[in-house]
Amino acid sequence: MALATDEQAVIDAVPKRLFIGGEWRDAAAGGTIAVEDPATGETLCEVADAQPEDAMAALDAACAAQAGWAAHPPRERGEILRRGFEELTGRADELALLMTLEMGKTIKESKAEIAYAAEFLRWFAEQAVRIDGRYSVAPNGAGRLLTMKGPVGPCLLITPWNFPMAMGTRKVGPAVAAGCTMVIKPAKLTPLSMLALADILDRAGLPPGVINVISAKSAGGSTGPLIEDGRLRKLSFTGSTAVGKKLIEQSASQVLNTSMELGGNAPFLVFEDADLDAAVEGALLAKMRNIGEACTAANRFHVAESLEHEFAERLAQRLGALKLGRGTEEGVDVGPLVDADTREKVSELVGDAVDRGANVLVGGSQVDGAGYFFQPTVLEGVTPDARLLKEEIFGPVAPVTGFGSEEDAIAAANDTEYGLVAYVFTRDLQRALRVCEGLETGMIGLNQGMVSNPAAPFGGVKQSGIGREGGYEGIEEYLETKYVAINL
Ligand code: NAP
Repeated sequence: MALATDEQAVIDAVPKRLFIGGEWRDAAAGGTIAVEDPATGETLCEVADAQPEDAMAALDAACAAQAGWAAHPPRERGEILRRGFEELTGRADELALLMTLEMGKTIKESKAEIAYAAEFLRWFAEQAVRIDGRYSVAPNGAGRLLTMKGPVGPCLLITPWNFPMAMGTRKVGPAVAAGCTMVIKPAKLTPLSMLALADILDRAGLPPGVINVISAKSAGGSTGPLIEDGRLRKLSFTGSTAVGKKLIEQSASQVLNTSMELGGNAPFLVFEDADLDAAVEGALLAKMRNIGEACTAANRFHVAESLEHEFAERLAQRLGALKLGRGTEEGVDVGPLVDADTREKVSELVGDAVDRGANVLVGGSQVDGAGYFFQPTVLEGVTPDARLLKEEIFGPVAPVTGFGSEEDAIAAANDTEYGLVAYVFTRDLQRALRVCEGLETGMIGLNQGMVSNPAAPFGGVKQSGIGREGGYEGIEEYLETKYVAINL
């Protein structure tokens, strides 16, 4: 099936080669990777497939540019990011269409992501001029303590396919603001958004070598040599916990500074005093944003026993009314999953829960035909041993279980190795604070189904990660602290 004219135009407009040292170039071996439309399974275009020597050339360029970039006036670093923000915002329609084509989410959701992604550039444009230090008197009064901050150095930024633009700007924004240079390795399923971003920031005035982008078929093959190279000073990764663990191990050889934004298994707690309308609304957002393919997606719904059935029924009604289709089509609410493997895993998890006794209130199956569609699904009476209460579902499936006491709810929520985010619905202020204190997560949505905000520190505890992105904390990940002991 041929692409529509506007679709072909946005695909044609993106550079499809590697961006290294301010130039677009083919991969060393001339190889390419096919980028697919998950709604049709058809190839959209081919992008360069970086080899280890290309990755090394990108690191060479980042290292060559580092000293000059660190010395660049912070105000100008901020102005470049600000121009990037304006450009992303001004070209939101075109960039959203590009994202929908490569990733599958609806145009409305892609536009929301472009706006979210752009806000990271604006936030960090403002932070670039707020990097400071301290001067203090030593406790014994004899000496002085000077604390200064500087860029950590060349960074490797590895991004996932689920938020192809925002997971990039959430790293690029603070890295540029702090004065770091970088090599970006986007996911091979969705490389186009990061290539478009490199083009935008290049035009916005970023000097050659500050940002380098390598799309690659072999993620480990292209990034492995960089992680082992002593010139690299930072690895910031967003992706699965399994890959994050491997990268932490690899990083040990150089004692590399790492930031890890990993997987989640978010509990969504509804107490008997909750506003049920608000809880259902919040559940819809927390579950269905990004087709359920979000680290912050509500993975399991723990509902007070007295409300469990009503909540499940109402959620099923809402999910059952959603329209599936290609994200570019008018009136579509839910796009396809990103690929066949992702859909297979979702099917498997639903099958496992049903085999163990769960009741399907709505959905439950793959959709036949082209593309990787899965019906929005609500399962009730999910047994505690079901795999989907323990594993990241990454699809439009909502398992609902009941709880007795507040203590039981907190214990169930914390019964996971993950700790990214939790959602809590209650109208009792004291309970809200008690539960927030008891939850072992980096973030909590209190009476709301979304936490992401560029001005807030995003990140997890336990096996959901190390470090924070966004907020005042985000830039700290790209800064080193140096202390000077002064003898007065
Ligand atoms: P993934 O398979 O871990 O991949 C993430 C990135 O790592 C991709 O660019 C991937 O490249 C690359 N990669 C894979 N294996 C690698 C290796 N051995 N060495 C170096 N790089 C490697 O995760 P995903 O499926 O793309 O994304 C979904 C996961 O990300 C979920 O677990 C989700 O929860 C998590 N996530 C977390 C956050 C957060 O902020 N905490 C945000 C979004 C997503 P290729 O894809 O090209 O192989």
